[in-house]
Formats: sequence, structure tokens, C-alpha cells
Amino acid sequence: MTVHAIHHVTAISGEARRVLDFYVGVLGMRLVKRTVNFDDPGAYHFYFGDEAGSPGSLFTVFPWANGRKGRVGAGQAAETALAIPPASLGFWLDRLAAHRVAHELPARRLATLGADGGETVVTFADPDGMRLALATDPRVADLPGWTAGGDAAIPAEHAIRGVFGVTLWVEDAAGAAGLLEGPMGWRRAGAEGTTTRLVADGAALGRVVDVRDVRGFWGAADGVGSVHHVAFRVADADAQRALTDAVTAAGVHATAVRDRQYFQSVYFRAPGGVLFELATDGPGFAVDEPLSALGESLRLPPQFEAHREAIAAALPTLEREPAGA
Ligand code: ZN
Repeated sequence: MTVHAIHHVTAISGEARRVLDFYVGVLGMRLVKRTVNFDDPGAYHFYFGDEAGSPGSLFTVFPWANGRKGRVGAGQAAETALAIPPASLGFWLDRLAAHRVAHELPARRLATLGADGGETVVTFADPDGMRLALATDPRVADLPGWTAGGDAAIPAEHAIRGVFGVTLWVEDAAGAAGLLEGPMGWRRAGAEGTTTRLVADGAALGRVVDVRDVRGFWGAADGVGSVHHVAFRVADADAQRALTDAVTAAGVHATAVRDRQYFQSVYFRAPGGVLFELATDGPGFAVDEPLSALGESLRLPPQFEAHREAIAAALPTLEREPAGA
């Protein structure tokens, strides 16, 4: 069975300039696409990732300058962990401290699971309170690291490679884990406390989903500082159709296919309420601008191109270039 590892995680954040300063300037991810929310072209949609924006490397953000604050709770991906090589942990502790990013001390997580757990994590929050972690994973050490525009502040060897995994907070943990383990091809690696770990065997990035049973906890609210959805990889339109049929047969209600320009998407709520997406690996981010210039200018899908001037004028200004240091 094909395993559908994480393709991207999408979150809602605050002011656009501050989002760039943090994800590019502090975390050193590449802005691989500067576009608008296709469902609300009055707002930006930023995609951060590795050099090419490979599936699994992507963390994407809708910046809502005056949006209401989200609330972490049941029915949400409460934390996104980003993967770094184990040898890079010291570098990142120094860098977070140098940029005055408050963080917890490094801790081992799910160490009882042996090869399927035992990563070291450093948890912190972005400027809008989004819960993030850096997680060490030897599987990502050989993946190429992105170094921003010749800036040596983050050597390629220490670069964040992409998404390690997410922690879902749900009331229906059995249902959420069952969907991943069943049609989506994940393997149940074990449990510790109220958390069940599922892994996508064979994937280097986006390979961990921790499902935490938070029965009785308050419900999540979408808003600034919260994850909006988690997308999973499908190879192409045929694979997407097959997996959509399989999850539908398992009882979820999926949307029609939506054209996201860089991939095709289907959405559904998993048991427990977290919004999932099935995103195709292609065509990718070089479909409308050269790889060397990804993220440098505003890209719009064909349906908005005729309104470019009005759309661009209504978007928040990004006059400063990302600090990159
Ligand atoms: Zn998405």
C-alpha cells in the first residue's frame, strides 16, 4: 500500500512582514511562493520550504494582519515539528537564543518507541503564538539544505529540511488514527500516555503524526496562531481519486478537486475534526516562475491575473526584504 506522508502544513498567522521575518529571517526557510489565498485574494499566502518547495518540506501561512486570535484545542494540529539533523541541535539552540526566541530545553519525545521515536525536540512559538518544534531526525541529514541567497548565517548542513510531523489534538483519537492506519497507509508505531504515534515508512520528511487523545478539552478555534490544515501527499490525480474514494468509503465527506496551481487538492475533515487535504506532488512551484527566482514576486493564478493591479494594491506592503540573518 502507498503511504501518504505529509505534503504541507498550513497555518494562520498575523502581520505578513513579521511572518517573513520569522520564517525566512530566523528559521531560514526559503519563501518559495508569494501568492494570495485562492479563496480570499485579499490576503497573502506564503509557502516556505526547501530550495524547490519539495512536498514534505512545506510550511505555508495565511497572514491575517487583523485576524482574530485562534485557540488551540481539540480538532486541530496543535504543534508542527520541523526536521533538523541531530548534529544541528546545538546550532539551533544558539540561533534561537541569539534571536531571543523563547524555547523549552531540549527533551526526548516518545523514547519508548525506539527507532520510531526518541527524537530530541525543542519547542517554541512563532511571534503569533503558533506552537512549533525542532525535531532531530537522522533520516534528513542527507537531504540538501537551503542557504538563503548566499547568506552564511545558516550553513546548508544545519538548515531546516522541512516538516518532521504534527501533533493532532482530537477527541476521537481512535477514529483519526484508524483513518491514517487504514486507507492512508500509515503504520501505528506505538503509544505513550495519551499519544499514539503513526509513521509514514519510507518518507524522510513529513513522516510522523502523533494523535493525542484530549477528550474533555475545549474545542479549537481557527485564527491567528493556529494550524488550518494538514495536507498529505498523493502522487498524481489518479492516486488522489483512489485515495479520495477510499477515505469516502471510510465515512468522511470529501470536497471536489480544487486547482491550487502548484498542486491539486481535495479536503475533508478527519474523525476528530482536523481538516485534512490530499495534495498532488506536481506540478510544483516552478510552474509559473524559474526555480532561481521562487518567491521573489507576487504570483497569481490565471483567474486573478486580470485583476492583478487591484489585488496587489490591496495587499499589505512588504517593502523590507527578508533580513536573512
Ligand atoms: Zn493546503
